[in-house]
Amino acid sequence: MSEKLFSIKVFGCQMNVYDAGRLRAAMSERGWRETENIDESDCAIFVTCSVRDKAEQKVLSELGRFKASWERNKRPRIAMIGCMAERVGAELPKKFPWVRVVAGPRQLGAVPDAIVDSCENGGLHIISNEDPNARCDLSCATAPHDNPHKAYITIAHGCDQFCSYCIVPYVRGRFISRSPDEILVEAERLVKGGVKEITLLGQNVNTYGRDFDGVRSPYRFADLLRDVSSIKNLLRLRFTTSHPVDFSDDILDVMSRGGNICPSVNLPVQAGSDKVLREMNRRYTRAEYLALIGRIRDALPEVSITTDLIVGFPGENEDEFEESVSLFEEVRFDLAHTAAYSPREGTPAAAREDQIPGRERARRLVRINEIQTNISREINRSMEGRIFEVMLDEAAQKGECLLQGRTATDKVVLVKAPQEMSGSICNVRVTSSSPWCLEGELL
Ligand code: SF4
Repeated sequence: MSEKLFSIKVFGCQMNVYDAGRLRAAMSERGWRETENIDESDCAIFVTCSVRDKAEQKVLSELGRFKASWERNKRPRIAMIGCMAERVGAELPKKFPWVRVVAGPRQLGAVPDAIVDSCENGGLHIISNEDPNARCDLSCATAPHDNPHKAYITIAHGCDQFCSYCIVPYVRGRFISRSPDEILVEAERLVKGGVKEITLLGQNVNTYGRDFDGVRSPYRFADLLRDVSSIKNLLRLRFTTSHPVDFSDDILDVMSRGGNICPSVNLPVQAGSDKVLREMNRRYTRAEYLALIGRIRDALPEVSITTDLIVGFPGENEDEFEESVSLFEEVRFDLAHTAAYSPREGTPAAAREDQIPGRERARRLVRINEIQTNISREINRSMEGRIFEVMLDEAAQKGECLLQGRTATDKVVLVKAPQEMSGSICNVRVTSSSPWCLEGELL
């Protein structure tokens, strides 16, 4: 039988990147070879996202373009995986007959065999399980692809927070922590294979281990952080995403001991107004969020803090939006991932009648981005002339002989350096900056 080819396209978050890495490993175990060229593949795996409507529209337009090749030679087959597959599921093959496998993020374990069967026997596989606690996971570890020096490890699946705008708990199911032993074995294997930096992933990593109660002695995120950080030859350890309610002092304790845990924290605030936070079901107030920022900065003076913010949540009036602006000005985040509110069918916020018109949401987004761009510019400018340890890890997209790396605080740095230095940590003096990155010279 001729060699079968697969390709993988990832839409959305880092957890999808991690899932793609495990699917890549599982397909290789079955003797399939990866190709970058979707059009020549027997099966293209789309790992999809549902967080915003735009993410889904992008996948739909990508799906449409395979009509002609499917009618001509019945390839490539598409395997739709991830949150969008869970949300729109069975509807997809009706509209796009070349979609032959559909599986949500909790059904990854069944995907490789379904792809093989679909290619050999032409079957259609719609794999779903309505039980939000059910999970059929892949047993193989991730295979880093784009960057051999860095890897992600998902430490927990799903989310129990039910923020009123968010689709994640509905598509990814209930929060389930992976066992510490499994995570540590995976991390050690990655480091032995040459990985220098690991990022621990979860929708809310801070609640890691909370579902262990009654099964084993308390083992929480701080314990996992400490144990992974002590793996020999692991140079850098990061984690994301945190939830302000669950970011406890024991995590700060472990981080403040220094070592390889990077002083950078992504702490989504989502809104600056107490009324909007309450309606988002975020369970903290503006004052509590600011107090936590203060504690983090006291414990980690060099820390960089990034955030996520939604503008134009239903019912958010102008004064409430201005509270987000003033919070940005008060905290001075290093970077912010901002988005106009996007209604997600099935969530409480999407059912509200007081939706903010699209043009107004767009206006608020432009305004908050201008504020943040200025803050990021000022913070980065203040780094000029200073020396930082930078882990160089890949060729920069712009400019010849430029390597891209990151400071421990997660700032992107471009440096003129030979390719062989990729994967090493070097001292770099920052020579210039923009709101998005730094440029520097090797010392
Ligand atoms: S914490 Fe809230 S925003 Fe984050 S994944 Fe869970 S429900 Fe969604």
